[in-house]
Amino acid sequence: MFALQNVADRELVIGDIEPPAAPGPDEVQIRMKAVALNHIDVWSWRGMAFAKRADKQIPGAEGAGEIVAVGDNVKDLEIGQLVAIYGAITCGTCDPCLEGRDNHCTAKQVIYGFHTHGFFQELINVPARLAVVAPDGLPAESAALAGITFGTPEHMLFDNAKLKAGETVLVQAGGSGIGSAAIQLIKDVGAIAYTTVGSDEKGQKAIELGADEFINYKNERFEGRIRRLTKKRGVDVVFEHIGPDTFKGSMLSMRRGGKLVTCGSTTGVMGEINLNLLYQQQLHLLGSFGCTLGNMKSVMDKMASGSIKPVIDTVLELRDVEEGLIRLENRDVFGKIIVKM
Ligand SMILES: [Zn+2]
Repeated sequence: MFALQNVADRELVIGDIEPPAAPGPDEVQIRMKAVALNHIDVWSWRGMAFAKRADKQIPGAEGAGEIVAVGDNVKDLEIGQLVAIYGAITCGTCDPCLEGRDNHCTAKQVIYGFHTHGFFQELINVPARLAVVAPDGLPAESAALAGITFGTPEHMLFDNAKLKAGETVLVQAGGSGIGSAAIQLIKDVGAIAYTTVGSDEKGQKAIELGADEFINYKNERFEGRIRRLTKKRGVDVVFEHIGPDTFKGSMLSMRRGGKLVTCGSTTGVMGEINLNLLYQQQLHLLGSFGCTLGNMKSVMDKMASGSIKPVIDTVLELRDVEEGLIRLENRDVFGKIIVKM
């Protein structure tokens, strides 16, 4: 069977590998249908994955496929079902896992495509509890976006920031996969979305997605514009995933008692925080990572009902993955790059 393998820094080849054995008693075997590209794939392509290069690491952290075999103990899944796969292997027995909050697993968190081989392979065995069934009729390209692209902002906005109708949100980088997903989730609950973008063209696309205002960060300071848009009050929630390039401005964009929720730092990991601002303004800083199995189900239901619509920039063939990674690295995308398997 085929698999995409990382053989050297910035070098991926399609190799022929041994297919997996029959699934274990609590596993299902999945034929991958669609894999979405994320920044984590750029990092592993550059050689930063913790999986050993000697093992010809297989990337891919977010995807969906069809069940082709089920283990003996698996009662609630069937051959032929389309499933979105959770992005990490967790213990399944600790309290958070038993509550479906696998992103809080106290025992382990092995991320697909980074700590272990990922989804860019023809067939893969995964724990059955981490396969989330897609609603009838949902295309694989949409289901492939449940694990990170939509699941992550769903968890950030609703579980962490407790976003409500009528509240205002600043979404950093509304043209990114996760930013464009966030705008739709925000509008779907009747909240107000302001977003930063790197070009007016991306800004227009964000408006078409439902954003209320865009701010081209290359032309103006977004924190100043946010102050004007909110009559000096600041927004209720800042949706962060950029890091040092935007963090200071994000801190200045919150209202007194506002919340900043972050799931990433693509521009570096170290930043400064004005501690006076933090306590005087009584700000809430919320770290968020991944999502729950329930978040994946919820976003796929929203997709199936049409209340949110995945923004797909490009669908690539497997041989063209590097082209997609280069575009992601250069932020030359609007929405998601999906790879057809
Ligand atoms: Zn656990």
